[in-house]
Amino acid sequence: MTDVAFIGLGNMGGPMAANLAKAGVSVRAFDLSADARERAAAAGCRPAAAIAEAVEGAEAVVSMLPAGKHVRSVYMDAGGVFDLAPAGALFIDCSTVDVESARVVAGAAAERGFAMVDAPVSGGVAAASGASLTFMVGGPDDAFARAEQVLQHMGKVVIHAGGPGTGQAAKICNNMLLGVSMIGTAEAFNLAQKLGLDPQVFFDISSKASGQCWSMTSYCPVPGPVPASPANRDYEPGFAVAMMLKDLRLAQEAAAQAGASTPLGAEASALYALFDAAGGGSKDFSGIIKMLAGEWSKD
Ligand code: NAD
Repeated sequence: MTDVAFIGLGNMGGPMAANLAKAGVSVRAFDLSADARERAAAAGCRPAAAIAEAVEGAEAVVSMLPAGKHVRSVYMDAGGVFDLAPAGALFIDCSTVDVESARVVAGAAAERGFAMVDAPVSGGVAAASGASLTFMVGGPDDAFARAEQVLQHMGKVVIHAGGPGTGQAAKICNNMLLGVSMIGTAEAFNLAQKLGLDPQVFFDISSKASGQCWSMTSYCPVPGPVPASPANRDYEPGFAVAMMLKDLRLAQEAAAQAGASTPLGAEASALYALFDAAGGGSKDFSGIIKMLAGEWSKD
């Protein structure tokens, strides 16, 4: 695909659009923010002053927006993408949004004869800049095959999760598990320390025993055992608490709608909300160990 419109040029969308341009794709880039449009122009995209200008003649439209309400508005409002994109265009929404919004927008696209996929990402700004994101894609087989041609320029892994909304489902289920496992790992380290066990020794044992998990071996919440983990740099993100909280809340919304019982997900959401309210929102999510230990202070 050679002609792509990109809508939403923030911390993630900016570098993603830049990587598409770097790969030789003609990118017409739109954001409400003039600064973001200027940065995109400096990175090789063609800035567009409005959605209409961005999508004119586009083979695909990629969006990277804050939340479901922005995605619904950009695609479905009068004068939005559905009204203005050429017939046959493919829509790829990479934002992290609620499953319901993803399915509503994909359904509305299908009614108008457009193909659409939800393609949320794993990996933060560094992965967006380095074109090493993982995309979890929900949508029909043929739309996935077309989307893969675009997404490959912005990521390392592109996985087809199933029908519409399943990309979002995969993302929030994974991140709910991650939030729960981080809290469990943090509790275990805090208890180990109270019981007189050296954190490194506990790590050496548990990382080779049945307590082993990613939160311990790749993202250890105490400094020392995993030198690259945010614990070694005062919990600078990494993956910020505010982002984790957003995903945990999306998981709780989806669980309520689907009638799924997720008590530990609910507890994780409540604990991250507490940490956020205590001023931890911009810290890495592994920093919750400090709050659980009663050692957190914002300053
Ligand atoms: P951001 O706030 O930096 O960027 C969002 C951009 O969308 C902004 O530039 C904003 O001006 C633009 N925007 C909002 N409404 C618009 C509209 N109607 N038309 C055009 N542009 C509009 O957010 P971000 O960090 O880039 O995150 C984007 C998405 O990616 C979110 O859904 C987030 O959950 C997800 N995500 C973020 C990260 C991360 O580490 N930042 C990681 C994984 C997933």
